[in-house]
Amino acid sequence: MTSNTLRGPAALVGAGLVAAERLASLKHVAARYAVAITPAMAGLMDPDDPADPIARQFVPDPAELEERPEERSDPIGDDAHAPVEGIVHRYPDRVLLKLTHVCATYCRFCFRRETVGRASAPSRDALDTALAYISGRPDIWEVILSGGDPLVLSDRRLKNVVTRLAGIEHVKIIRLHTRVPVVDPARITPALVRAVKADRKATYVVLHANHPRELTAAAREACGRFIDAGIPMLSQSVLLRGVNDDPATLGELMRAFVECRIKPYYLHHADLARGTSHFRTTIAEGQSLMRALRGRHSGLCQPAYVLDIPGGHGKSPIGPNYLVQQGKQRGRYRIEDFNGRHHSYPG
Ligand code: SF4
Repeated sequence: MTSNTLRGPAALVGAGLVAAERLASLKHVAARYAVAITPAMAGLMDPDDPADPIARQFVPDPAELEERPEERSDPIGDDAHAPVEGIVHRYPDRVLLKLTHVCATYCRFCFRRETVGRASAPSRDALDTALAYISGRPDIWEVILSGGDPLVLSDRRLKNVVTRLAGIEHVKIIRLHTRVPVVDPARITPALVRAVKADRKATYVVLHANHPRELTAAAREACGRFIDAGIPMLSQSVLLRGVNDDPATLGELMRAFVECRIKPYYLHHADLARGTSHFRTTIAEGQSLMRALRGRHSGLCQPAYVLDIPGGHGKSPIGPNYLVQQGKQRGRYRIEDFNGRHHSYPG
């Protein structure tokens, strides 16, 4: 992690990102949720634009203290599927392994905002127990390194974990979820790439980015270092009001990923994390944006729009649906094309 990271509201005021008169109100937010912004992200913000989509993602806002009854401290139900510390085992063939609760930069809409930046990371013994859990379950085909952000860890620590996972016969895929190539591109060094590239197993990196401006030249080069080393990359984005909830911005983001050789993977409907209602769109708005993407952009630019079902029931695609069965007669459908026109199909 870069030592120049801005930590806390006073540092944001000092850097000119926040007006001094907002300091007191933002201290209340920072007492509840972690605040940190890397120089790469601070440098992208326009302090004169109150609607700046980069600032909106990272600069705390008093709206975060407004909570809705439907919001939850554990919106995607990690705790319901945590058999041992550090593991979330929600689906039969894969587990999450949370290596740290630290991130390089804290997103204001984070779905794990009650734990990131606060709790300590799993101890050495807890990591041994988590790896033993994976080793003892032959159905686990894929391990997803998550957190927090696993790429804040040292190369040595990452190499140790990846090597131990790669040594488990039935683990074939090691996937890392990270925001670091965007928020701290200089961290993606050749040594880090070597540390996460598993021997005789497939390593995938999934990049979290939400606005096309995040894909700077430095971020694109950082991603290129993974891909040139034979590590495929996918994307995940959160649909966020005031950040990417318009067709032009969302389309530009998906194109930016594809231009970087990153396949768009997930567009997440924003989770019911506490104090994040100002970021959430409706599902109908999300479906409308997905229709606009399909109409205007290459098939390579199409992510799956998904909802993590509250309570820990996993992700489901939430449309839009282009195919409707007509009546009770078997095999008659109505299908919608990318222009919104309808056609019948015999099935
Ligand atoms: S990088 Fe991920 S885990 Fe960290 S604050 Fe952002 S959304 Fe949360």
